[in-house]
Amino acid sequence: MRLGLDIGGTKIDAVALGADDAVLARVRIPTGFGPHAVLANAQAAAAQVAAAAGGGVATIAAVGIGIPGIVDSSAGVVRHAVNLGVDELALGAELSALLDTPVTIENDVNAASLGAYRMLGLERSAAYLNLGTGLAAGFVLDGELWRGVRGTAGEIGHIPIDPAGEICACGQRGCLETVASGGWLARKWPTAAALPVLDVFDRADEGDPRAITLRDQLVDGAAAAVRILVLTVDVDTVVIGGGLSNLGSRLFDRIVIALDAQARTSQFLGSLALASRVRLVPLEQPIAAIGAALAASPTGESIRI
Ligand SMILES: [Zn+2]
Repeated sequence: MRLGLDIGGTKIDAVALGADDAVLARVRIPTGFGPHAVLANAQAAAAQVAAAAGGGVATIAAVGIGIPGIVDSSAGVVRHAVNLGVDELALGAELSALLDTPVTIENDVNAASLGAYRMLGLERSAAYLNLGTGLAAGFVLDGELWRGVRGTAGEIGHIPIDPAGEICACGQRGCLETVASGGWLARKWPTAAALPVLDVFDRADEGDPRAITLRDQLVDGAAAAVRILVLTVDVDTVVIGGGLSNLGSRLFDRIVIALDAQARTSQFLGSLALASRVRLVPLEQPIAAIGAALAASPTGESIRI
């Protein structure tokens, strides 16, 4: 069996895939903080999900990991995973030694891209737009991840779109991420609510004008991201995913409406049929963990799914 571990800021979501890539078992445990905790809990998650799938650690053919931060897949090293308290960790080599099995690591958005591509049954080319605390995308072209030469492909959250906008954490001004991300919205909408973005959507539904403005800026920014992805890579499909996609049709339908509205103002944009090329990620599936498992390579070769 192949294992996939989606290592997030609070939990590790682990799945075991059988020979036909069916999900045999799923386990979730806390991530912990700092390199030692992350490594130990990744090992524990792998052992637990293998056991839940009816096998021991010896039955694991390969492990794939999706993790935030700057990931060097070829070296198996993750750097600057700030939310995990990890400055630098040779996660691939260290976990591989602990489990005695090959371990592949991927950026979390790239892993989710593979999972979405497979679970939606996509073919040819797709971009996965991750709308979460930040904004980034991954590309799957003919079943294979396209990372770019330095792993930067899809970092569209740092395309400046507003010369008069806010200074972004990256040092530039007016990045797309500063108008279309959960982190940006939470700063603009201080609230005691556990989920600020959900609170903005709820208040907007009730007619709060400030909430409506913020919601519409978010939706327009997401639509701009779809436009950028198609205009740069001309993918068949753009999948809307990430934490904000849990809003479901409340977010997705508005993005489609925004794309339709843009198409009516431009014959050129209209010809691209953007609204018919977006899909919502399957919300009930652990796509990031499944994608990590699909990326797991027993031979170290790049995987085509
Ligand atoms: Zn930026």
